[in-house]
Amino acid sequence: MIAAQLHGREDLRVEDVPEPEPGPGEVKVAVAHNGLCGTDLHEYFDGPMACTDEPHPLTGGVLPQIMGHEFAGVVSGLGAGVTGIAVGDRVSIEPLYYCRECDACTSGLTRLCDNIITHGICSNGGGMAQQTVVPAWMIHHLPSSVNLAQGALIEPLAVAFNGALRSGTGPGDSVVVLGAGPIGIGVTLGLRALGVEKLFVVEPAATRRAAMSDLGIEHVIDPTGIDVAAEVKRRNGGRGVHAAIDCAGAAATFSVAPSVLRVHGRYVILAFVPAEVPFQPWLLARSEIELTGSCGYGPGVFTRVIDMMADGTYPTTGWVEHVRIDEASDALSELRDGLRMKLLVDLPVPS
Ligand SMILES: [Zn+2]
Ligand SMILES: [Zn+2]
Repeated sequence: MIAAQLHGREDLRVEDVPEPEPGPGEVKVAVAHNGLCGTDLHEYFDGPMACTDEPHPLTGGVLPQIMGHEFAGVVSGLGAGVTGIAVGDRVSIEPLYYCRECDACTSGLTRLCDNIITHGICSNGGGMAQQTVVPAWMIHHLPSSVNLAQGALIEPLAVAFNGALRSGTGPGDSVVVLGAGPIGIGVTLGLRALGVEKLFVVEPAATRRAAMSDLGIEHVIDPTGIDVAAEVKRRNGGRGVHAAIDCAGAAATFSVAPSVLRVHGRYVILAFVPAEVPFQPWLLARSEIELTGSCGYGPGVFTRVIDMMADGTYPTTGWVEHVRIDEASDALSELRDGLRMKLLVDLPVPS
């Protein structure tokens, strides 16, 4: 079968590899679409870090690694003892492996597991392959109204929705979303579904602002050359907002967030900020602002996002693009350079 394997930094090869077969409790999936995200960029351009020559303690994964952790497809095989799943079922994969033993896991916060790893980051196989094998507990059935491309978007939208939930906001509240990439879009649509009344999106790139406007978001702000906090407050009846969600991870957004919040506002960091940023801790004390983050998604979030996709919460026009597997390396470069929105790699149908 055809797969895209990461051999080392900026070395992704589309090659013929042996087809995996499911063992007991495992399910084989013919992948239809696999999404690419910032985590992939990190592994490809700065790593590989999560996957090395040392077998991963949970999965045994080593390089070369078939990339791809955001995927959906059709069940193509079943290992012994798997029930409730049939060949031909349309499924999306919740790709997290966690240890079930560490402090985080035993507290129910499996997304924060000490050893957390994702199928397609460091595991036996990944979503950028015609076939992959996952534990049956990763499988989620898709309702008939959700197609496989939408199914491949569930994972990043679950990451985004967890961030929306971490803001603690709901009906009547106001929120600023910093950054209108795919995660920013997911956060914004998730907040709208939660009933957040006033949504402000801040994004310097015109194409991304246009995509947000096309999704029906009224207040889309270009931060270039303006005082963002003043502009948001002007549009928000003179008041700061209840929460700011950082989906950009730039030093500039980190300096905006505290000034845009009202007292007891919450600043949620969803982006993994690689840069050191200037920070004035007294800003937290001055207005009793809470600074927190969001990582992955909690139990039940994945299923909830599938239901929300079926409900029409997540229109996908204008921000999802498809590429072939042999275009993946170039697509990763274009994604890093901000020239792409959400990218789905379409896998060739197995013969
Ligand atoms: Zn991802
Ligand atoms: Zn754990």
